[in-house]
Amino acid sequence: MILREIVAVIFSVVLGACMGSFLNVVALRTVEEKPWWGKERSRCFSCGRELEPVELVPLVSWILLRGRCRTCGEKIPIRYFLAECAGAAIGGFLSWRWGLSFAGLFAVITGFLLLLNAMTDLYSGYIYDAFALVLGGAGMLLRLGGGLSALFDGFLGALAGAGVIIVIILVSRGGMGWGDAWLMAGTGAALGWQLTLVALYLGFIVGGIVALGLLVLGFVKRKDPIPLGPFLAFGAFLSLLYGPSLWGWFGVAVKWPWL
Ligand SMILES: [Zn+2]
Repeated sequence: MILREIVAVIFSVVLGACMGSFLNVVALRTVEEKPWWGKERSRCFSCGRELEPVELVPLVSWILLRGRCRTCGEKIPIRYFLAECAGAAIGGFLSWRWGLSFAGLFAVITGFLLLLNAMTDLYSGYIYDAFALVLGGAGMLLRLGGGLSALFDGFLGALAGAGVIIVIILVSRGGMGWGDAWLMAGTGAALGWQLTLVALYLGFIVGGIVALGLLVLGFVKRKDPIPLGPFLAFGAFLSLLYGPSLWGWFGVAVKWPWL
């Protein structure tokens, strides 16, 4: 790895952490039905004191403050820290995998929109059609650069992603929601059909393992709903990293821009 690449990855990790922090606020305000923008500054949710810039540095502030407010000592929810970690991981891994390329741009935009959808699902058990649509729209817009075949691949991806979930909804009558179908339609448009199939496969495997673990450890009961969105998003993230190599093992080259 040459120096330029190392610098690019570090830069992406830092930028990714900031992006994770920002998207976490977007997700929280959306779920609470508050506006994203406006004069409202970041405050301690417990004592209401306005936070200073040094308290808002992603990752670093939370660790230095040991996860507590400086004034009132109340715990800062760990989801703030985890969202920043997730953002850092998305930025770092995807830029390491794809570098400064068109696929890299695709992957990073897709990765962060997946994170946003995963967070709203985690916070409210709800995937917002609008955010899934933004994901799909961004994918199709980027695909304009690859011509008709790239657009068609996005269309097939959306069809495959939503199709599989819809079949499961119809067969299982519950368990999975239409939000998951929307999410996978958007994901499919961005990833194309080949990476979408990998995303579904990995998402279900990881989701199944985690659900089983939570059940065995007694964190959830048999009938408790477990949001599927975060697992689908994680599967898609893994697919962005390893999907092309996986297809490569079968001697199949994935389509543009993941060549
Ligand atoms: Zn406080």
